[in-house]
Parts: sequence; C-alpha cells; structure tokens
Amino acid sequence: MDKLLKGPWYAFWGILVLLLIPLTASSQDLQTRYATVQYADTNLLYDFDDELYLGRQLSRMLKGMRSVSRQDDIKNKIDLVVEKVETVLDMFPAKIHFTLVLLPSRKHVQRIYREKYNKSTNHIAYYSLSEKTMYIAVDDASLRVFSHEIGHMIVDHYFEVRPPYRIHEVLAQYAEEHVTD
Ligand SMILES: [Zn+2]
Repeated sequence: MDKLLKGPWYAFWGILVLLLIPLTASSQDLQTRYATVQYADTNLLYDFDDELYLGRQLSRMLKGMRSVSRQDDIKNKIDLVVEKVETVLDMFPAKIHFTLVLLPSRKHVQRIYREKYNKSTNHIAYYSLSEKTMYIAVDDASLRVFSHEIGHMIVDHYFEVRPPYRIHEVLAQYAEEHVTD
C-alpha cells in the first residue's frame, strides 16, 4: 500500500472497529419513555418482570395500557412506576432519562459498586447520581426496592442543586412506602 494512504486507511479500520464494538457487546437494550434498560439476556429481563409485582391498583392501570408484546408490557410497567413515584413525591421533572442496568444477583451489584467506589456495600440496588444509572439485582428486585431507587432518580432529576444525602434518602423511602397507595 502507498505510504501516504496507510495513515487514513488505519484510521478507517480503527473507526470501523469502534463502530462495531457496541454491536458485538453481549448486553441488550430496551428503550422505554424514561429509561434505557440494559441486560445480558432476555431471560434476565423476564425475571425482572416476574419479580416486579405491581399490586392491584397499578396492575389494573398496566392492563389498560397499549401493548402488543411482553417487551411492550415491561416498558409500560417501568414507565408506570416512574410516573406513580412522580405523583407520590409531587415532583415532575421536565425531562427524565436514566439507565437501568439489570444484574442477576446482589453479588454483581456489589462487585460493580466496589469497582467504582473502592469500598464494599450490602446494596441489592443503587442509583448512581453521577452516571444517572440504576443497578438492580434481579433476584432481589421488588416493587419497593425499585420504587426506592426510582425515588432517588426523580429527586436527582428534579433539583438543580443536589439536596443533602439525608433528604434524598427520606424522599426515596417515602416513594417506596407510598407507591402502592
Ligand atoms: Zn436510598
């Protein structure tokens, strides 16, 4: 190959490889109105759906929503909980977007936490304010756990200036307790 062409040619392959990386990664995505859900395989998504029992009132609301597939149903379910927690907290941020990472067990959640913050934790789920990302252990997931973290997510989106940690926590607990009201 001509010496002059080599440089741009390498750059071309470099860019191509970078473009292909997201496609070859094992993780999958589901886009809801508010969330990008990431999970390693579809069974994990379905397990999350099974663990996230909504209770009578929210289940009835979910049944009334348009859905043609189980994926649609799960999207609706996630968005429904987000909207219910907004109502509970009486906080309606103009724009909500967060990433929801589904992990098989609390060990996975704890490993990610340790890698990022270099300290251990017993969390089964947590919301990272800096990444706007929720990590949740699917086998420990429940409406209460999910709503608590959604509470953190909404408080995070609502305030321009981050409230003190204790206020954040109290509001998340309030969301968790009242989501089925
Ligand atoms: Zn909390």
